Formats: sequence, structure tokens, C-alpha cells
Amino acid sequence: HLLKSDAEESRRLAEAVVAAKERVGFCQRCFNLSEGDLCPVCSDSRRDGHVICVVEEPRDVIAVERTREFRGNYHVLGGAIDHLQGVGPEQLKIRELLARIGSEGVTEVILCTNPNLEGEATALYLSKVLSMPGLTVSRIASGLPVGGDLEYADELTLGRALEGRRTVETAPASEAV
Ligand code: ZN
Repeated sequence: HLLKSDAEESRRLAEAVVAAKERVGFCQRCFNLSEGDLCPVCSDSRRDGHVICVVEEPRDVIAVERTREFRGNYHVLGGAIDHLQGVGPEQLKIRELLARIGSEGVTEVILCTNPNLEGEATALYLSKVLSMPGLTVSRIASGLPVGGDLEYADELTLGRALEGRRTVETAPASEAV
């Protein structure tokens, strides 16, 4: 496309990319992509603030939204625990997630990380640190292609995985200290 288009068109395209990059940042609450302080989901008062769906990347928010099965809010971690790549919990937005649960009256957290090694390790870690009174932690059902990314799952499959989510055991109080 670039080769066929004239110089003027290429320049306009380049400017549009630069403008988009300058305009788009991260939502201050959930770290989804956003043009303002809050993303469209966080700005929508009709969303159920008691439920947070935890995902790895902003593209996963788009995948879950496509299912139309979820009416709560999101929290974007910015990746998954991957020790080989030097990504530990402290590199992800986990502290921010814990702070939100305390301040926003959250009653359920759905762990919607990818069904691969890093996504499962992240879900396991989160299930241990999310041991709080009155909080249900659930994991999306298996049935998604293992090793795949959420973004490649079709709406129906991902919708079913969300619907069929199971409560996970959080760490007992003695272990959580
Ligand atoms: Zn947001």
C-alpha cells in the first residue's frame, strides 16, 4: 500500500500514526489504552464496579468485550509473570490491583490471563495474594486452546470460558502472612 500511494498520502498516514501515539496513553485506573484519564469502560457508570476482570494486555480487553458476556470493569497487568524474560510480579500492575480491590468495594476478581505457561503462573500467583475477606477469586474455564492467546479465541468460546469460570482457592490466612 505504501509503495503504491503517493508521497502526500504517505505523509498523511505517518502524521496520523504520530498523532495517535501522542493521544493514546493508559487509563489511570485500569491501565487499558485510553485517550483521556479514564478509558471508555472506566468512564461508563453502567458497568458493574464490583467485578474486575484481570487481563494481561489491552488487546485482551477487546477480546472479552467482543463476547458481550462481561459487564464489570477490567484491570490490565501489562504482561504476565515470565521469569525467563525477567518479568516478576513487581513489573506488573499487581500493587495497583490490590489497591483497587480495597478502595472500590470489589467482590469478585476473574483471572482472565492467557491459557499458557506464563498466564497460568500469573493466575496462580494472583490467587495467592488475593486472599481477602469477602472477595471471590475465579479463573476462566479451560476449553480455550492451551498455549494460545485470548485474542485468538472466538467470542463464543471465550464467552463460555467466562461463564464457566470456577472459584479458586486463595491462600489460607496462615500462609498469606
Ligand atoms: Zn480503565
